[in-house]
Amino acid sequence: MAEEIEQEVEAPEAEIRDTDIVFDCPQCGKSLVIDYRGAGLTINCSDCGTPVLVPIPDGMDIKDLDLDSGEILKQLFATRKNYQKVEVQLQQLKVRLEQLQEALGVMQDVVAEGLKV
Ligand SMILES: [Zn+2]
Repeated sequence: MAEEIEQEVEAPEAEIRDTDIVFDCPQCGKSLVIDYRGAGLTINCSDCGTPVLVPIPDGMDIKDLDLDSGEILKQLFATRKNYQKVEVQLQQLKVRLEQLQEALGVMQDVVAEGLKV
């Protein structure tokens, strides 16, 4: 299961801020609006689902985005927290699977015994 960066793609009729990037989906032509921080990321078109590379606006340096380290760190921590949660759940599922396999083994033994009689 790959961790995906979720970026909200707003409908064109929603309020467009100066900092938003407006571009068209190359596949279906739908007008997409995304926060400037989405520049250079790949998002899925809200209409046809095609992965679309968000253009970097003229005069905007992608490095400018890196200056907002507080925001990035917050996202990183959130992602890592989620990851740890998933890891724990996976571990619990593995234990449960082992229990079920054990129970299945016992049942198979019982069935095998029953067939012999
Ligand atoms: Zn599209």
